[in-house]
Amino acid sequence: MHVVLLGPPGVGKGTQGVFLTSLPGWTRIVTGDLLRDSVALGSNLGLEAEKYMTQGHLVPDELIIALVRDYMTNCQSEGNLVFDGFPRTEVQACELTKMLGLLGKSMDTVVVLEAKDQALVERISGRRSCSDCGEVYNVHTYPPEKSGICNNDGSALVHRTDDQPETVVNRLAIYKSETEPVIQYYERIGSRVCRIDGNQDVGQVRTLIAQALGLEKI
Ligand code: AMP
Repeated sequence: MHVVLLGPPGVGKGTQGVFLTSLPGWTRIVTGDLLRDSVALGSNLGLEAEKYMTQGHLVPDELIIALVRDYMTNCQSEGNLVFDGFPRTEVQACELTKMLGLLGKSMDTVVVLEAKDQALVERISGRRSCSDCGEVYNVHTYPPEKSGICNNDGSALVHRTDDQPETVVNRLAIYKSETEPVIQYYERIGSRVCRIDGNQDVGQVRTLIAQALGLEKI
């Protein structure tokens, strides 16, 4: 099965994607993580992408499409794939349709998590992530046991530069102008689109996603 998790920044795609990939046979492609890895490595792609990421802008389509194409060529996964953070523009969505088409596959379900801007800004402003294992906390809703320290490995928690309030407003505006049309694209080509209210308890959202995908539980 091939699934896209769509939704504005801070709506909980990452948390739900992790639940999905805790199931056997599921792989998650997270373009934000692939880009952050490239930035940390200091590769040419990372250096180029960083300029856009720190401003909360989208990385140009050709860079991100090349990254995903590479990933899919190397991963050769026969199992279930969940795309998180990709596609974010209609051009990317068309390219993904072509990439899957070459493999004789198509997008099965598009899960759209929705929430109001105000709730998203609050969530993102409280978000902190582990500089080592990547675990994501929230100072309001899911604080670590020791302030600023990861429960898993004791590493420092960081507030991503693109999670600062000014950048978040920019990212939400870009979501509306660039990424919402992706939902209409999938509706147009006849993919199954399931909209879920992301402003509910994490477990409740998880159950609704499981139902949307016809899974017993995640
Ligand atoms: P995320 O962790 O998904 O919020 O991604 C962090 C940043 O990486 C975004 O704000 C963009 O600058 C960049 N990015 C991630 N995925 C994409 C994509 N599919 N297209 C363009 N830029 C992306």
